[in-house]
Parts: sequence; C-alpha cells; structure tokens
Amino acid sequence: MNRREFIAALSLPLFGCGGRADPSEPWPEGAVSLSYDDGLPSHLDIAAPALTRHGLRGTFFVTWTNIAPRVQDWIAVGRAGHEVADHTVHHRCDLQDIRASDYFEREIAPMEAWLDRTFGPRRDRDFAYPCDVTDIGSGSATVQMLRFEHRLRRLGLHSARTSEGEPNAPQWVRQHPYKMQALAIGYDTRSLDDVFRYLDRARARRQWAILVMHDIADTPADGTMTIRDHDLLLDHVAESRMLCRPIGRVLAGIAKTRAVVSA
Ligand SMILES: [Zn+2]
Repeated sequence: MNRREFIAALSLPLFGCGGRADPSEPWPEGAVSLSYDDGLPSHLDIAAPALTRHGLRGTFFVTWTNIAPRVQDWIAVGRAGHEVADHTVHHRCDLQDIRASDYFEREIAPMEAWLDRTFGPRRDRDFAYPCDVTDIGSGSATVQMLRFEHRLRRLGLHSARTSEGEPNAPQWVRQHPYKMQALAIGYDTRSLDDVFRYLDRARARRQWAILVMHDIADTPADGTMTIRDHDLLLDHVAESRMLCRPIGRVLAGIAKTRAVVSA
C-alpha cells in the first residue's frame, strides 16, 4: 500500500487534492479572478481576445474617460461574458480636496448608472479603488475607509478590490467585502514566478487569488505586463484546476455557500 492508498483507506483528505468537501469552502482547488484596471486599449485589443482564446472570462474595472472613445467595443466585451465594472469617471487619486458626497455623485454614481443602462440591473456590482486610495473626508484612516465602504454599500455595490495583500479566504470576503486583496502585476511584482507562487498559495489554502493587470504591451515597463507573460499566465490558469471566474461570479458563489451553510 502506497501513501495515497494508505490515506484513502483511513478516509483522510489529501491536502490540496480535493479532499472532503467542506460547505464553508466553495473552491476545493482555490479560485482565481483576472482583473484589468483602467479600461485601456490593450485590454480590448490584447487581453480580451487572449481570454477568449483560453476559454476564460475576466473583470475589467473601467474608467469612463478611457473607455469613451471605444464604448461600443467595451459593450461587446461585457456582452461576451466578461464583467465590466466601476473604476470611476476620472480616476482621481487625491481625494483630500473633495467632499465624499461630491465624489460619489460625480465619480461613482454616473458609472453605476451607465453600467445599469448598458448591462441591466441584474449585473454584478463590484468596484476597484483608483490608486488604492480608500481615505476620503475627515478623521482617521479607519474612519475614512468606513465612510468609503458605507457609501459604496449605499450605492448598491457588493464589493471593492484593493491592489495588495495575500489571497482571500472565503470568511475574510464575507466579513470584509470592501477590502478584497489582490496582487498587482507590474507593481507588486514583475516576476511571473512570483505570480505563480501567489496562485500556488491560494490553491494550497483553498483561497481566492485576485490578479490586477494594467497595460499589456510588447516591451516591459513599470506597471506593464508583456504580451508573452500574459499569454503564459493564461496558459497556467487554464491548465490549473483552480476555479477561474470574474470577481462578481466568485462572490455570488460565496454568497450561495453562505446560504447553504446557514440553512
Ligand atoms: Zn486604476
């Protein structure tokens, strides 16, 4: 009897290889979401076609000023099964001189209204903080972030993604849906090996990896992923047994699991 057969005979789960289904763990092999920020032309011309070739779907956090010149192409991306989500109208990074009510009225509500009109009221509703800035208005950083979360919730948004941190445990997401963590390729790391190690950690811990990408181009640069690395990443994800879905779809799965657990 080898080790695998011995463990099977004892009915013990093999770590990281499926094991017993725990209803509080929606992804026995971990999950991954591929997110793309800012609504850049390379997302239309390179990322979306590459995702389609690999049979994958991503989340595109778009900024109105960037998508306006090719809005019909962006609508086609959303209708092809990708998530098109809110990254504000102008992508302001300094929020010190603006009132929270004005910021939400001018930067977030108009994007939500356009997304509703374009993709319907039943669409997924997720947000990514421009420049990872979560502080708005007066008070401590915690008070400012709570103010941001409160207003996002009031506007009907289900989650918000930051751009740093380890993979997300389902329980973390349930408790902190407006603090979802992610790895920003091109900023946190430019090494594909680092990205693969991050995915491995999510898989081993049965957690949710969220990747953030910006521009995708032939040549390497700060904040940019090369076309070759992007293709290698998609090959890796498509061949892995991790669940790969847009952010809103993974969140919907977590909500469904909670309903099963609490039933
Ligand atoms: Zn951005």
